Amino acid sequence: AKGAGRNRYSHFTPTLQVAALSRMRLTNDLRGALKGRQFELYFQPIVDLASGAITKAEALIRWNHPQRGVVSPLEFIPLAEASGLILEIGDWVFHEAARWVRRWRSEHHAEFQVSINQSPLEFQREGDSYQRWLRHLESLQLPGQSLVVEITEGLLLDANSTVSDKLLQLRDAGIQVALDDFGTGYSSLSYLKKFDIDYLKIDRSFTRNLAPDSSDMALSEAIIVMAHKLGLKVIAEGVETPEQRDLLAAAGCDYGQGYLFARPMPAEEFDLMLRSG
Ligand code: C2E
Ligand code: CA
Ligand code: CA
Ligand code: CA
Repeated sequence: AKGAGRNRYSHFTPTLQVAALSRMRLTNDLRGALKGRQFELYFQPIVDLASGAITKAEALIRWNHPQRGVVSPLEFIPLAEASGLILEIGDWVFHEAARWVRRWRSEHHAEFQVSINQSPLEFQREGDSYQRWLRHLESLQLPGQSLVVEITEGLLLDANSTVSDKLLQLRDAGIQVALDDFGTGYSSLSYLKKFDIDYLKIDRSFTRNLAPDSSDMALSEAIIVMAHKLGLKVIAEGVETPEQRDLLAAAGCDYGQGYLFARPMPAEEFDLMLRSG
């Protein structure tokens, strides 16, 4: 029995150790990333499907690691959450987003909005973070409506009083709320009427399989009708083909986002794109 145990041990340990070590190293590097100005905020246009106008953008963080190159947020956000660094990173994202939306509101579209992603941990953080955010927006002479906070369904499902409080704080500040990745998780519809949400983002797993008379088409149409009845606007994620765009537009979807329009890009590039019309 001892021998078998040792065998199992030697089979699993090295990979686990390597993975754990690499996570530790990366977390360690993450600590210096803010100071080292290694983060960069990318922006992806959100397109008004009826007019084709770009009136919003989603801010997506990138980490330019000095040795490893660009590290995906899918890899480092979980580490940032586990280490608590996500709070500082989230503040940085907010400040950068505010800086750019100010410019785009004054130079491109008066109602331009930038949406930022919030992990459950950030969203539920203690204290008056949104009060501070609001003061910062005021100092930039920006209304709360300049920003949209994207949260995921899971947060609303096990909603405690902190979550409801935060949603109210956001609302008081005029900041809008989008429900990200809609349809992927535990989709319960009851919270849509319970909470004041402004946008519903249809997950790209639905967009991917859109075809006339497909079940994903039927689902998307139903989601759009329901959202509109509840007073929400709908953004479809992952629009990659003209067919998907046309089907969504015909179904009354308000906005589209995806590689068809543009990939996420550095702020300066996004700025140039807006200028060139
Ligand atoms: P998400 O919020 O669902 O963001 C959309 C992801 O889909 C982005 O990946 C984007 O680049 C990608 N995408 C956009 N259009 C298309 C398309 O047409 N096809 C395909 N296949 N993909 C498309 P990204 O930038 O790698 O971000 C991954 C996730 O990391 C985000 O998913 C979000 O959950 C998280 N994230 C990104 N930035 C932040 C941040 O600043 N804070 C926090 N807390 N999380 C972030
Ligand atoms: Ca998002
Ligand atoms: Ca999403
Ligand atoms: Ca996602």
